[in-house]
This record gives sequence, structure tokens and C-alpha cells, in this order.
Amino acid sequence: MKAGHGEAVEPPASRDELLRSAIERARRSPFYASHLEGHSLVGRADLASLPFTRKEDLIEASPFGMLAVPPSKAWHYHESSGTTGKPISTWSGLPELKQMAARLHGMVPELDEETILLNRFPLFAPVSFVFEEALRHAGACHIAAGNMSWDVPFTRALEFIQRLKVTAISSLPLEPILLSELARDQGLDLRKDLGSVNLIFCGGAVLPPALRRGIEHDWEARIVEIYGSNETMLMGVGCTEGRLHLCRELLEFEILHPDTYEPVGPGEAGIVTITSLVQEVMPLVRYVTGDLVRRETERCPCGRADETIEVLGRLEETVELGGGRAMHYEILDAAYEFADTLGTRIFFILIRPHELRLLVELDDPTRAHPIEAEKRLAERIGLPVTVEKLGPNEVLDRSAMFRTPSIYKPSVISDWRRPGRKPITIMEALLEWPKFDGETLFHLGKRQIRNALRRRRLTREDRRLAGSSSSDAKTRGRRGAH
Ligand SMILES: [Zn+2]
Repeated sequence: MKAGHGEAVEPPASRDELLRSAIERARRSPFYASHLEGHSLVGRADLASLPFTRKEDLIEASPFGMLAVPPSKAWHYHESSGTTGKPISTWSGLPELKQMAARLHGMVPELDEETILLNRFPLFAPVSFVFEEALRHAGACHIAAGNMSWDVPFTRALEFIQRLKVTAISSLPLEPILLSELARDQGLDLRKDLGSVNLIFCGGAVLPPALRRGIEHDWEARIVEIYGSNETMLMGVGCTEGRLHLCRELLEFEILHPDTYEPVGPGEAGIVTITSLVQEVMPLVRYVTGDLVRRETERCPCGRADETIEVLGRLEETVELGGGRAMHYEILDAAYEFADTLGTRIFFILIRPHELRLLVELDDPTRAHPIEAEKRLAERIGLPVTVEKLGPNEVLDRSAMFRTPSIYKPSVISDWRRPGRKPITIMEALLEWPKFDGETLFHLGKRQIRNALRRRRLTREDRRLAGSSSSDAKTRGRRGAH
């Protein structure tokens, strides 16, 4: 049986056939032409015999090596920030983006013609355009307001929600927290003044249950988890039951043990490895994402057959300290739960050589908190943890969220006869940084000094403890040291 084209009623190609043609497509890229040389796939059972593709391969092959079509035939180009070395290039095509968008739309009943979505995903992340397509698919309105765009700072995003009666937000999980803090700071009532929002898509970082509950509670909105990455694009979407389903029509998934790379069973945790089924532009074969997920055992009550998983984060986000071991996911979950009992959502965690330090921001840091809450925090994390309570704006400087530059159209002419700005360089014409009065400068300075002092105190403490533990170890003949 061969898959035809343009047939109105076409039986779905068998999984084997889908995979077979995906592998053949992948061979069109210079990387896979050599990487898969001598390997063949007849059916799904052969997949395990193909070599893995690692992140390093993608880095090495960037920018053109993974492309299975000429670069101009790609619809989109993106790349990783490259802060830690050479960036990873990712290319995608419109048809595949449309398929992802259709999947997203199909799983979220609230996405309808009445939707107005404030899309806060950075515009240089491909997921942003999956949302744009999904909104086109739904026949609804999309506001491209990436959180890294200088022309839509947090204050303006809030204003959009209020003024345009935005019904949905898509963003990193921290964004709704920041927006709600800023709203409170401005004296806005989240449920009254920003009550039009009934749906929040969260993706791009782990979404532990306590964080999800917090956002859900504050915004009185349904949370839809989005799982994906620049290289793989959309991998999973949350359903109406709040569970995350893998997009099996887009990708072939293997969940593999992090050490043995053997498939793990239901209920176990493993590394997500994907093979593209629909990508024509930059297909990947057995790409090891490095994401640790737990396979869920029970079938989802929503009725979807696709497997559900819990995303635990990247494998390298594992912290080993004082004989204990925890992932960022678990640390964040416990920390959000603890913060909630103290009536805040704002904290910052320092991973120090001997402990986790939780800097938690409270209206009144001198007020005592329940000792059981701190005990539960330590038990849940399983690592040495201490809590330091700080006052308002010491962890999240809200005033900084207002201090954004004004952006203008680039120009080389300035008419000084007119009232208003009088720029004298192109940069000044383009950008205007806020000017500070004496009082603001004083507060900023004070905060800077306080932060610097705290940093110095903690660094000294770390050094002193490192010194004493090494001398302890010497005197005890290394008895107590790991
Ligand atoms: Zn479901």
C-alpha cells in the first residue's frame, strides 16, 4: 500500500510506512546521508538499530547540515542563543507548522473565534509561530507580543489584557506570576480587572504542580501545558483533564533509560528520544532531547489514546548535595508550595556548595512562619535547605519592570523646531531610556548595595565552609567527606 497525494478519503498510512518515508526524507540532509549510511529501516521494529542523534551533532551540523531541502524552501529559521558556544540552527516548513497548529487547536476547546491571544513567547522561538498558526486555524486574533520585545514590556502587556479584553495568554510559566505581581503593584484586581483571561498556555520550562495550582488560582484560568523545544518543535499538549499528551502523529517517541538507553516501562522515568514523522525541512532521527519525563500508567479520562507523560526537566537539572539528590522540578514544586503557605509567589533559589538557600519575599519578613511548613519543604526537597526572608521588592524589583526604554522608528532626521524630543544621534532617535529622579536613583543604589553585600556574605560563607570541610576532612582522615 502506498500513500497517495491529495486523495479526499485516504486511509492513514501505517506506522511502518510513515517511519520508512520519514527516514528516507531525512537521508536528503548532508548529516543523515552519512549518519545513516549502511542502516536501513523496514518497519518500526528496526528503529532501535539506527544510531542516535545528539545535541552535539546538531551543533556541529549547523547551520545547513541538517537541512533536507534548500534553505530558501524553509518557512522559518531560528537558532539557540549560543551563549554556551556555537548556536543550534533550526529550520521548519509551513506544512509541518500547520500540522502542529491543528493539533494544538484540536485539543483546546476554548480556542474559538472569540479568542484573543496575547502571545508572550519570544518571537525568536519557533513555538511562537505554532501559536500564530493555531490562532489562524481557529479563526481568532493573535497578538504577537513576545516578552523579549522591547516594544511590549510587562506594563504594556498588562495594558493589552485590560484594554483589549484578552482571553488567552501563552508564555513561559513564570510570566503569569510576574504579570500578576505587577498588576497587584499597580492596584489592579486580577480577577476583576484582568478577568477576561480564561486560558493560559505554559511552555518552555517545567511546570510543577504547585506552580500550576498557583497560576490557576490567581488567574482563575485553565492552564494548558505545552511541551516542545526549538529543535523538535511541538511534542506534547495538555488536555482538558490537565494531562500532557504526546503528539504521536507528529513524532515517533522512544522513552529511554538515561543510563542503559533501553525503553522504560509505564510509570518509569526516561529520556525522550524522537524521530520526526512530518518534518520535511529538518527531520530528526532518534534525537536524544535530554528531557527526563515520567510515563504515566493510567489511560487519560479525556479519551485520547496518545500516551501521557509528566515532564521532569532536563537531565542536567539534577542537583546533588549533602548526600541528597533532587531535580529543579521537585525543588520548584516544594518551594512554590512553601511560598504559598507564606502568602507569596516570589522567591529565588541559590544552589550553594553545601545547601539550597531560598530567598523568599514577604510583605513583612519579620513575621514568624509555621515551622511545619519549613520542615515539609526540607523533607520534600531532600537536600539541606535554609530559608531567608526578605522584604518587598528585594527578590523581584517591580520598579525595574516599569523602567523600559521607549522605542521609536529608526531615523536620521530630527526636526528640532517641533516640541518634544531632540535626539542628536541615530541611537537616541531609536531608543530613549527612562530618566531617573534623585529619589529613584537613591533607592536603586541602596538595592544594588544590599544585593552586593548579600552576595559577598554568602560567597564568604561558602568559602569558609569549603575551607573548614576540607581541613575537617584532613584531620578526620577523609572519614566524613563524601
Ligand atoms: Zn487527556
